[in-house]
Amino acid sequence: MLDSGDTGPGADDGGPGDTGADGPLTSTVERGSFCLARCTCGWSGPARRARGLARDDAAAHTTTRHSVPDVL
Ligand SMILES: [Zn+2]
Repeated sequence: MLDSGDTGPGADDGGPGDTGADGPLTSTVERGSFCLARCTCGWSGPARRARGLARDDAAAHTTTRHSVPDVL
């Protein structure tokens, strides 16, 4: 928030209360100008320049690694 060149108005900084929004396991972490997804299982995705991409990584990880095979 103290950054000068931040994104425009309405930028929802994924603050500390960003848990439970998309999934119970994954979250996004900002590293400098990059953003990457992390999971409680220890997995972490590649650094992305957009938080949306990191969220996609997290969603894909959740689907591929934490989805329960209901029907086999
Ligand atoms: Zn995981």
